[in-house]
Amino acid sequence: KTYNVSESKFAESKKYLSGGVSSSLRASMKPVPIFAESASGTQIRDVDGNEYIDYMLAYGPLILGHSHPVLMQRIVESMQVGFTYGIQHEGEIELARLLTEVLPAAEQVAFSGSGTEAVMLALRLAKAYTGKRKVVRFHGHYHGWSDSIFTSFPSSDMSQKPLFEHESDVPPGTAGQSEGSLQDVLLLPWNEPELLEQVLRTHHQDIAAVITEPIMCNSGCIMPLPGYLENMRKWTKALGIVLIFDEVITGFRLSNGGAHGKFGIIPDLVTVGKALGGGIAISAVGGSRSIMELVESAKVSHLGTLNGNRVSTTAAITTIRELSKNNGHLYQQMEATAGKLAEGIRSLFRKHDIPGLVNQPGPMFHVMFTELTEVNHFDHFQKRDADAYTRFAELLMEEGVLVRPNGLWYVSAVHSDREVDETLKAIDRVLEQLPNHERK
Ligand code: PMP
Repeated sequence: KTYNVSESKFAESKKYLSGGVSSSLRASMKPVPIFAESASGTQIRDVDGNEYIDYMLAYGPLILGHSHPVLMQRIVESMQVGFTYGIQHEGEIELARLLTEVLPAAEQVAFSGSGTEAVMLALRLAKAYTGKRKVVRFHGHYHGWSDSIFTSFPSSDMSQKPLFEHESDVPPGTAGQSEGSLQDVLLLPWNEPELLEQVLRTHHQDIAAVITEPIMCNSGCIMPLPGYLENMRKWTKALGIVLIFDEVITGFRLSNGGAHGKFGIIPDLVTVGKALGGGIAISAVGGSRSIMELVESAKVSHLGTLNGNRVSTTAAITTIRELSKNNGHLYQQMEATAGKLAEGIRSLFRKHDIPGLVNQPGPMFHVMFTELTEVNHFDHFQKRDADAYTRFAELLMEEGVLVRPNGLWYVSAVHSDREVDETLKAIDRVLEQLPNHERK
């Protein structure tokens, strides 16, 4: 494959667009951040005419694939009656009601545009509700890029240290982050129940919220250890701490009720985004009425020019309705498709004698090159061979399969056995090409 046109477009882009890409992560694609020409279903085509089966799915939102016909039709219809009004419309009530029906944690909801904004509101609500200011978050989780929660991934020697006494140790996520913006953040290792209990019991008078991804999707698709989230729920409730599940990835991907619906653990607040809009920008916070009504009483400000606009609410209502058809059989189908892929990749790793593993909690999975047989801590995840994976992703592109360079794969409702078979053949060829030192 050649990427000449993408290369020249990237060079041109850099002249006018800072960094040449619109979200920093996208710059990490090798050999070059490719430029899309068009996409449909599971396929994406770049400006050089290369075609790929897409498992990147725009970092998660495209749960129905690219340009799903029903979704597209509803969006076009909605545009014909006005894109956005700045005054209320029926679609907001319909979507809000629907979300309270499908998300067990949501008695009421509030809309925003991105996952980052939803998390901002959830944290603000938790602090206002409890009158406290500290927030516990975990290594390896990602909750958007706002100053008050964005941290970089710590070096492994720091990752065992609970950072309560040394608040200034919480590593900022970026240059230019306001000094002191992380002073209220306590950074803990995840999946360590004793440590969490100890920190919560000792410092609960200062802790407003615990925020967690219910499955650590941003670092290895790691499942919570049995009882971990249940205990987190029990302790936060007993100690007057708001529990926030950040389901920006898992919401409408694992099930209509997200991970909390699937696990039967009800957090006080939940954030959803990505798959909710099927590719159109929308996010939401849902939660108990007693917390959410702080917005109604105007104690907590919740703002946004395009919040709840016609196009985004239509996209979300349609996406949820499509996903709800036939008792949600699409979720079973997606999970089965992802399962076949994951199992296929594991067996190809064995065939080629390459040490690797696949964590597959649902219609998404993480592929990593590692000698470990189990990865259920961030520390284990940090030990993977990330460079080998980046090479693997680059070679897969050559074979017509598009994946994120970091290991996380998404499967949509339109991926079928045909794509799975083609993809596994491509992986087989790629593993054959990997340099010998990647093998055992
Ligand atoms: N929370 C989680 C768990 C996420 O994975 C992400 C995005 N990857 C966000 C929040 C931020 O969402 P957005 O990029 O829409 O701001």
